[in-house]
Amino acid sequence: MSLIPKDGLRPRPKLPADYSAPEKLPTSVKPPASRRPSVLQEPVLVLNATFEPINVTAVRRALILMLKGVAQAEEHNHAEVHSAAASMKIPSVIRLLAYRHIPQQTRALSRKNILLRDRNTCQFCGRVFPAGDLTLDHVMPRSRGGHSTWENLVACCYACNNKKGDRTPEEAGLRLQRRPRPFTLHTSRQLMRLIGRQDEKWRKYLFY
Ligand SMILES: [Zn+2]
Repeated sequence: MSLIPKDGLRPRPKLPADYSAPEKLPTSVKPPASRRPSVLQEPVLVLNATFEPINVTAVRRALILMLKGVAQAEEHNHAEVHSAAASMKIPSVIRLLAYRHIPQQTRALSRKNILLRDRNTCQFCGRVFPAGDLTLDHVMPRSRGGHSTWENLVACCYACNNKKGDRTPEEAGLRLQRRPRPFTLHTSRQLMRLIGRQDEKWRKYLFY
């Protein structure tokens, strides 16, 4: 299935009537269309059959779930996507048609999820970094018997990581911003709320 975003989804700058393309591109060129974030990657809130928010997915995945008959749209976005066969409104919120049991801890322990939990914030200096500038730190160093668990792994910038070395935070004169916890549904919901602030239509499902 190939879904091509309808041309002109985003407002384009108005060009003067006598506009003609310059011979050379200006120095401040916009990234080509393919490099701009596609509407298919925009976030969609996923509700359980009971309207309980359970996840955030991308438009592309949401449309697949709808086409498979697994989910239906509850709220729409303004935009539409077109494929050869049909055009579909872009969902903003979808709901699973069959109830799915969500275990208390659904998230796998991974670098990505630790960074997500810690919101790309170094847990020692409290500064926010791009994911590539963060590493994972074992609060109790592995050399001292620390395990790779939700409670012992935190996002950490390289400067703090170097400073800490093979020591505990206390020994290195560092303080944890907060006690690391497993990624629970509660944490997920907070994240969904964070993302949902951009979308009016998510509010009634997330803020109650
Ligand atoms: Zn730091």
